[in-house]
Amino acid sequence: MKSYNIAVIKGDGIGSEIIAEAIKVLDAVASVEGFALHYDDLLMGGIAYDITGDPLPQETINRAKNSDAVLFGAIGGEKWDTLERSKRPESGLLRFRKELGVFANLRPAVVYDELINASSLKPQIIKGVDIMVVRELIGGIYFGEPRGREGDRAYNTMVYTVAEIERIAHKAFKIAMQRDKRVCSIDKANVLDVSQLWRDTVDEISKEYPEVTLTHMYVDNAAMQLIRNPKQFDVMLTGNIFGDILSDEASMLSGSIGLLPSASIGSKIGVYEPIHGSAPDIAGQGIANPIATISSASMMLRYALGQTSAADRIDSAIAQTLKDGYRTQDLAEFDAKEICSTSEIGSIIANYTVKKS
Ligand code: NAD
Repeated sequence: MKSYNIAVIKGDGIGSEIIAEAIKVLDAVASVEGFALHYDDLLMGGIAYDITGDPLPQETINRAKNSDAVLFGAIGGEKWDTLERSKRPESGLLRFRKELGVFANLRPAVVYDELINASSLKPQIIKGVDIMVVRELIGGIYFGEPRGREGDRAYNTMVYTVAEIERIAHKAFKIAMQRDKRVCSIDKANVLDVSQLWRDTVDEISKEYPEVTLTHMYVDNAAMQLIRNPKQFDVMLTGNIFGDILSDEASMLSGSIGLLPSASIGSKIGVYEPIHGSAPDIAGQGIANPIATISSASMMLRYALGQTSAADRIDSAIAQTLKDGYRTQDLAEFDAKEICSTSEIGSIIANYTVKKS
C-alpha cells in the first residue's frame, strides 16, 4: 500500500480545530482509495515561541523537509504582537516558506452555486467565477534589501530578478494549460522599473506557450476589474505584494474567508494551508469553518501526492455538504438548513467522501 509522510503544523488560534477536521477527512478518503497517511506533528508559530523561544525551530524545518507535504493550520495572535519582529509567528512563517523554497502560491477563488448569496456582489456578476491567482511568494518587496528604519525614515525595496520572474511565469502558464488557457499578468509597469522587467520577462516566457492567451493589467485596474467583472479572469499572475492584496480581494467573491484553500509550491515540498489566519476571536469555540483547510488537504492530495481521485472525492463532498444546507456559523444566513459545529461539518464531509465510492 502506498504511504505518505505528512508534516502537520497546527499553529495557533483555531489551527488545531481546523486541522483535526482535515485529518478526519484525509483518513476517510485514504481508507477508501487504498493509501496510508502518517502524520508528523511539528511546532511553529506562537506556540513554538512559547515552548522553545523560536517561532520556527530548526527541528521543524528539518522534519518538514523530510516529509512528502506540509499541511498547515494558521499562526499568530495578539499575545505575540509585541515581540521583536524576528520572534513573531509571522516572521517564522516567512522564513519557513523561504527555507522550503515555495516560490509559487496558488489561490483558487471559486464561487459555489449554493453560496451565491453569500457574496457581497450580485449573483449575476459572480455566478461561475473560477479564478486561480498564482502569486510569487518568496521575492519582491517582502524580502528585498536594503530594508530598514532610521529615525523618521523607513524603507523597503522591491526587487525581482529575471530568473525569479521566469519560474513563476512558467508555473502560471502550465496551470493555465490545464484550465481555460488565459493568463492575465498584473504589474505596475507604468510606474515601477521592476514591473517593466516583470512584463518583459512574462512576454518572453509566453512564447513557449502559444496556446495560452496572455494579457497584462495594471494592479490598480485589476483591483477594480475583480469587482466589476471577475469572470473575465482565468489565471492571474502576480508578484508578492500585489498577489497578497488581490487574492484576499478575490477570496471575498466567494463569501467567506473560511472556504478558501491555498497551495504554496516550489520544486520540492509544498505547503497546503487555508488563506485565513488563526482567527483568535473565535478560537476554542468549535465554530470555525474547516472547509478551507479540508480543501487545502484536497489540493495536497492533487498536487503533492498525485491522488487525483481522492482529491475529487473531497471536492465533491464539500460541494454536496454545502448543497445540502449544512453550514458553520460564518455562513449561517445563507440558505442554511442546519448550523453545525466545526467537528460536525468535518464528519459530514468525511462521510460524503466515503459514500462516493
Ligand atoms: P483572520 O483570517 O484570522 O480572521 C479574520 C476574520 O475572519 C475574523 O473575524 C475571523 O473570526 C474570521 N475567520 C477566519 N477564519 C475563519 C474560519 N475558518 N471560519 C470562520 N471565520 C473565520 O485574520 P486576522 O484577524 O487579521 O489575523 C489573526 C491572526 O492571524 C494574526 O495574528 C495574523 O497575523 C494571523 N494570520 C496568519 C496567517 C497564516 O497563518 N497564514 C494568515 C493571515 C493572518
